[in-house]
Order: sequence, then C-alpha cells, then structure tokens
Amino acid sequence: MKKELVIEKLNGHDTSGVVGKISTQVGQRISTGDTLFTIESGKGVLTVKAEGDGNVVALLVEDGQKVTKGQIVGHLEYDSEIVSERVPQQTKATSPKAGAYNFGLSKPTKRKLHVDLAIIGGGPGGYVAAIRGAQAGLKVAIIEENRLGGTCLNHGCIPTKALVNSVSVLKNIRRAAMFGLEVPSVHINFTQMMARKNQVVDQLVGGIEYLMENHGIEHFKGRAKVESENHLSVENKQIDLTLSYEKLIIATGSKASFIPIEGYDLPDILTSLELLSLEEIPKSLTIIGGGVIGMEFAFIYRALGSEVTVVEYMPQVLALLDDDVIAVVRASADEKGIRIFEDARASSIKNTLNGQKIVEIQMDGKMHYICSDKVAMAVGRKANIDTLNLESLDVELNDKRTGIAVNTHMQTSNPNIYAIGDVTNIIQLAHVASHQGIVAVDHIGGGSHTMNYSAIPGAIFTDPEVGCVGLSEREAKATGIDYLVGKFPFAANGKALVMGEQEGFVKLIADATSRVVLGGAVVGIHATDLIAIITNFVAHKKTIDECAHVVYAHPTTAESIHESILMIDDRGIHFA
Ligand code: FAD
Repeated sequence: MKKELVIEKLNGHDTSGVVGKISTQVGQRISTGDTLFTIESGKGVLTVKAEGDGNVVALLVEDGQKVTKGQIVGHLEYDSEIVSERVPQQTKATSPKAGAYNFGLSKPTKRKLHVDLAIIGGGPGGYVAAIRGAQAGLKVAIIEENRLGGTCLNHGCIPTKALVNSVSVLKNIRRAAMFGLEVPSVHINFTQMMARKNQVVDQLVGGIEYLMENHGIEHFKGRAKVESENHLSVENKQIDLTLSYEKLIIATGSKASFIPIEGYDLPDILTSLELLSLEEIPKSLTIIGGGVIGMEFAFIYRALGSEVTVVEYMPQVLALLDDDVIAVVRASADEKGIRIFEDARASSIKNTLNGQKIVEIQMDGKMHYICSDKVAMAVGRKANIDTLNLESLDVELNDKRTGIAVNTHMQTSNPNIYAIGDVTNIIQLAHVASHQGIVAVDHIGGGSHTMNYSAIPGAIFTDPEVGCVGLSEREAKATGIDYLVGKFPFAANGKALVMGEQEGFVKLIADATSRVVLGGAVVGIHATDLIAIITNFVAHKKTIDECAHVVYAHPTTAESIHESILMIDDRGIHFA
C-alpha cells in the first residue's frame, strides 16, 4: 500500500518547522515504529515514525529544510494496509488526501515490543539510565506520561534557577551605582521573565528528546500500566503498546506533599508547581515550610517585590545545615525583608471575605495570624509509589513505606526490577537520581558499582547560595569524632570583593587523626559551583596535606577553598 508522508501536525500551534535528523534513506526497508526523521519547531522536536513495515520510496526533504503543515515530504510503500481510522474533522476540505500518512489523528495502532530495558519515568533518573543503557548496547524503551525531563527540567531545578538568574540580574541592576553605573530605573516584566524560563525549559526538553532519538531509544508518551510481572502497557492517541522486557527500571519520581491542616485543600493553595507558573507577582505570599524549596522561592519572590513570610516548624530554616551557615542566609533574608517565623506550627488556612488568606500559626504557646494574598506549601515531596501496581511486580517498599526499597545496586526485591531517583526517597536530588540510574544500568550489564552517599553535594540557590557535601560540623559533633575545622571568609578573597559579594565563607571539616577531609560547606558567591572541589576531596578521601598542594588560579573565589584548607592548621595566607 502506497502512502504519502504528509505533515499534518507540528508541536503545539506551530505551523512550520525545520527537518532535524533524517534517519532513513530512499530504498531502505523500514519496520513499524522506526524513526524516519525529526522536525524541530519552536516548541520542541517531533519524531516522525513508520506506521508499518515497508520501504521508503521517496524523500522530498533534506536536513535543515524548512517545512510547513500540510506539506508532502515523502512517499512510503507499506507491505500491508495501515489501519488508521480517521476522525471526522479529517474529511474536511483542509485535510490531506485520503491515504496520506497520519500524524496523531488515527486510532491507536496496536504494537508489541520486546526490549532489553524498559524505563518508566523520563526525569533525570530515567532519561540518564536510558542513555547509559543505549550506550551499553541495550535495546531501550522509555515511557513518560508528561514531558521528558521530569520534575527537574519542567517544574523543579531548571525553571527555579532560571528565575533565580533573573532576580540575580535584577539585584545587580539595582546596585549598579556601586559599580559606577547609573541605571535610572528598572521595570520588572514578569511575563517576559516567565516566558524566558519556559523557553529555557523547552530548549532543554527538546535536547533530551533529541538525545533519545540519537541513541535509538524508543520513547513512548503515556502512563505505563503494569499488566503482569514482565509486561507493561501504554496507550496514547497513536499507539496501543504492549511492552515486554528483560529488565525494568522504575523512575517515577515524586510529587509535592501537603500537611493536612484545616484548609490545606483549598483550591488555590500553591505548591512549587504553581509558584513557577503565576501570571502576576503576588503582593504578599506566605510559604509554609522553610526548607530548600521554600527558601529558594522566598528569595525569588521577595526580590520581585512580594511581602514574603516563611513559617518553619523546626527551630531554624534550612535545618540540616550548620548553624553558622544558616546564620549567613538568615541574616541576608532579614536584611531583604523576608519575615521568618521558626519553631512555628501552621495550624489552619482560611479565606477572608476579600479573597485573601489567613494562616494561623502556633508559636511561643500562642496563636498568631498571617494575612497574605497567596499561600504556598513547601513541606517536602512524596515518592510516586502509587502510579504503578508495585505488588504485582513483587516490588517492596522501604520500612517506613515512603519509597521503593533498593540495595546498593538500586535493585528492588524483584531482581529484574530496579528503582532510582525520588521514588526511592533516599536523597531527592536530580544528580542523585541520575547517578543511581548509571549504577542500575551498570549492574544490569554485569558491573559491580554501588551507590555511595557519603559525597553527595547539595546546592541551595538562596541569596547567598549554599553548597554542602559530606559530614557537617553538626554531624561531626553528634558522632563524637575528633575533628578539625578550617574556615575562610569571602571578605578576605579578592575576587569576592571585586564582585561586591563579601558575605559568607568556605568551611572544611577533617578527621583530626587521619587528616582526611570529611565534608565542607560554602555559603556565599559561587557556592554551588565551588562545592564541586570539596566533593572531589571527600569522594577521593584526600588528606588536608594533599589538598594543600593543589594550586588555584588567581583571582578566583576558588582560592578560598585553598585558604580554608590552610586555616585548619592556622596557616591561612590572607586571614589571621
Ligand atoms: P522526576 O524528575 O520526578 O521524574 C519522574 C517522571 O516519571 C515524571 O516526569 C512523571 O511524569 C513520570 N511518571 C510517573 N509515573 C509514571 C507512569 N506510571 N508512567 C509514565 N510516567 C510516569 N534537585 C536538584 O538536584 N537541584 C535543584 O536545584 C533542585 N531544585 C528543585 C526545585 C523544585 C521546585 C523541585 C520541586 C525539585 C527540585 N529538585 C532539585 C529535585 C529534583 O527535581 C528531583 O530530585 C528530580 O527531578 C528527581 O528525578 P527523578 O527522575 O527521580 O523523578
């Protein structure tokens, strides 16, 4: 059966795009699901796949060629008729000719596929595992019900940091005079700020789609449903897939959790998801939860002009950090006008008659009331253990039933099934998810790498930033080990002064006997990048004597790391 290849659909509302990678050629034999080529448009990458087995008769486009909706781009000859029942609109005058290739308007085509490795969830855990699997020569399929990139790219790390960068530019404009630049006024265009954030996200998601394509990974959009221990199904408008596999990786991530106080389920209570898609800057915002996510949003919205209040149940915000690190962030928050109530329990949220919200908090044995336009909850994330029927997979949960239980190879109680990322609830960070994916695939391929959590860096994008890794001073004290501390302030670092960023410090913790670096924290300029250096020390169990002989470029903030090493023995060069 002959079929014209017609572009009926592009991403979103796009009407034109550019041909990306052509993966086939005239005369080539094709099978159902084979990628023919991709079309890139402003909204992402669309993959054009074969609907059946057959041959490529003609290709009328080249790499990089502009194409428009409705254009005939090739001719295919299928071995048998392609069953694609048309939806009524297609018979309208504007629809392509009968017998034309159909993008997404047909009834789902039934397809059976067997792969070496199936992955559920396309976040930084799942997509990294997919790439590593393909690199190892495995036939890989990845199933994602939303957009590739998961929480991290679409609603987490990347969009928040795009906003953090916008407010960092704003900060520099506002203090431009100190650098000798007169900037008479600045106008915040929030719509453009959000649009840029979305554009960064779209570009990165498009990049992941391209990587899947480039590595020959089968990507199916839809919710994976467990049919039996080795069978999944996925159904979307195009395909009704039955997928069997040798190995499965579950990478279904997490979602925002709530504390079930009165009013928590009011329809307009925000989570990080909504905070990333507001259309207007709220005049006032109360954030319940002063952890990493809550504090990052507090600094973003305060910089944009919101009256921000943070309510934290623990005695301090960012409670897992050392007191001296918290004190720097806390002082900056105070100076910027973020109101923080610690040791405070939010007990209800109520609507006022004029559309505001009242958060009732218990603090110092009394009730207090905070009135604001918007209320957000940032009280942690819950592993997505309920999007699949784990019992029928013989996959067990951890003791607290808060995540999937895994061994150090990320293998679950079912030896053919692995779990990685937030769904394991071990450490909910993107880079942990990705590395767990690499460890899982390594084990599937017969390797013996294990996950080691002793040198996992954390990055907090408050103003100033924080980076931390390994043992904190608080933990060192709690374990009772004999430890040494080296601390160097950015106020004594040339580059920090040049940048007008002298708050904060670098701090290192070492074992007093072995002199091995056990951990460290950086609070201040470039903290989230500088922490990589200390991560290397900790991961490779370097002694302070070995570290002291590494040379750092001048003038850089990294010199503060060197100085903090020297400070352990009170031999700092630029600080006494
Ligand atoms: P996810 O990224 O959550 O991906 C899981 C995917 O699985 C989702 O896309 C979901 O749609 C899909 N899925 C679930 N069930 C099914 C199913 N049955 N079928 C098909 N698909 C399914 N981490 C950092 O390291 N640095 C940061 O700066 C940072 N900032 C953050 C800021 C915010 C506001 C938030 C919310 C999180 C942030 N994180 C950050 C955490 C980070 O986003 C997560 O740790 C990371 O995304 C976890 O990756 P994952 O692959 O395990 O899961």
